Amino acid sequence: MVDSHVDVLIVGAGISGIGAAYHLQDQCPNKKYLILERRQSLGGTWDLFRYPGVRSDSDMYTFGYSFRPWKEPEVVASGDAILRYLRETTEAYGIDQRIRYRHEVTRASWSSRNAKWTVHARDESTGEDVCVTCNFLFMCAGYYDYDEGYTPDFEGVDRFHGRIVHPQNWTDDVVYEDQRVVVIGSGATAVTLIPALAEKAAQVTMLQRSPTYVVAKPRQDRIANWLRQHLPEKHAYALTRWKNVLLAMFWYWYCRSRPGRAKELLIADVRRRLGGDFDVERHFSPRYKPWDQRVCLAPDGDFFQTLRSGRASVVTDEIDCFTEKGLRTVSGEEIEADLIITATGLQLKFLGGLEVEVDGRAVNLTETFAYKGMMCSGVPNMALSLGYTNASWTLKADLTAEYVCRLLKHMDRRGYAYCSPRVDDPSMETASMLALDAGYVKRGRHRFPKEATVAPWKLHQNYALDVLALRYASVQDGVMQFRRADSIVKGSDEPTGARDARLREVAVSLPLD
Ligand SMILES: Cc1cc2nc3c(=O)[nH]c(=O)nc-3n(C[C@H](O)[C@H](O)[C@H](O)COP(=O)(O)OP(=O)(O)OC[C@H]3O[C@@H](n4cnc5c(N)ncnc54)[C@H](O)[C@@H]3O)c2cc1C
Repeated sequence: MVDSHVDVLIVGAGISGIGAAYHLQDQCPNKKYLILERRQSLGGTWDLFRYPGVRSDSDMYTFGYSFRPWKEPEVVASGDAILRYLRETTEAYGIDQRIRYRHEVTRASWSSRNAKWTVHARDESTGEDVCVTCNFLFMCAGYYDYDEGYTPDFEGVDRFHGRIVHPQNWTDDVVYEDQRVVVIGSGATAVTLIPALAEKAAQVTMLQRSPTYVVAKPRQDRIANWLRQHLPEKHAYALTRWKNVLLAMFWYWYCRSRPGRAKELLIADVRRRLGGDFDVERHFSPRYKPWDQRVCLAPDGDFFQTLRSGRASVVTDEIDCFTEKGLRTVSGEEIEADLIITATGLQLKFLGGLEVEVDGRAVNLTETFAYKGMMCSGVPNMALSLGYTNASWTLKADLTAEYVCRLLKHMDRRGYAYCSPRVDDPSMETASMLALDAGYVKRGRHRFPKEATVAPWKLHQNYALDVLALRYASVQDGVMQFRRADSIVKGSDEPTGARDARLREVAVSLPLD
């Protein structure tokens, strides 16, 4: 069968999009859905990032899906293992048949009259602009720009004779064996890279402007392994998942309510791991409170062992400029290097850069309010999957997909064609949708919808509260406005795409079954 309409269009085949597809076919088996993915393979983050040592920095019992137990013995998983898990998941549930690769979604126009989205995409294999219609649009496009990572403007970059690589652009031809490597940055990527590079490099220097919290945790979860041996797989997984959710929530709560004490505990552990001679105060005592920014993870303390062994060192200073031989810091230190890795972060991008139109009018999504962190006020039949910043992403992605299914089933039962959350008081006090104070969040939070200080416009960043709000609270809450198919809303009669003659010629026909 060939068609160009689906009930639900999912954008993005990363961990969120694949999870959304599972929930949809499990909960709404009558819905026809398709996934459009701009890259030529699935996995999103876990396919894009290829730097040495790339791994999760949260535990796989909560980063894995609720519906598919994580079976590997290691709780902190390598990028390859996560990718394997995602591939196996798509194959096990036939989701791989529903993905169309190399389709970058660029624009979506909603018609209230037809209760449909017309979604435009660039078919990378032909270079053509194509379109598909859907009743519900589920954006699972992640939160950052796939084309470019963030690199500050460093002076003298052109003078440097060696190679400069951003981790997002890592390829197999980057040589670091027997090289002097400088890693600029102090976040999760730097903390992951350094032990892996140090295994083969001649010398690794971590150059950070300011310190970050790094916490060591065991690579294996002994309680989880014990439960796995003594209980059926599914029960063991569910118990471990809840154990880890509650422990992480408790630790986050503790850090936010007793920041001074939490800081002391974190720094004391670093001191114990690095030994008395190390200047922990200078290099590992951040100026901010724990969880103002994400706390970095060192599995089995690998990062600290590498520093202690002398195979890597830390310099805490600002960069003055690049030189022919490496870098000079503001305090005058020269650091020679053959390879400089700019682990300086991501650039945030909302909805993969999607332009949205509702009934012929362009919508500035940054002026909308985020409803339960997963829909935009005034935008009908569109959900977005954005995970937690203080816990595993997938916990929220799973809940969001469950909620979308509840919404779709509710609309079917009551004969509604579309719904959108309505803000009654646009002058509500606002807050940032992204709770972290990290550099990449500060640079990009203006690209995201607004959050308010009251439910359902407040982002909990709390799994237990979200379970109540997304899994159990009624979808008909007075804020979500439902419309029947026959209620025509003022505006354009047809999707904007259909008015474009060139597009009609190339309108995509997607084989769906
Ligand atoms: C190196 C790294 C490590 C991380 N580790 C963790 C961790 O351990 N725990 C954690 O909770 N979080 C972690 N995160 C955050 C991480 O990105 C998420 O956890 C998760 O992988 C996001 O999944 P996603 O599917 O929502 O987005 P992504 O993985 O970003 O996937 C989005 C997909 O959408 C596609 N797409 C984007 N725009 C378009 C478009 N316009 N048209 C079509 N397709 C599009 C992309 O190509 C991609 O395949 C990490 C992030 C990075 C960068």
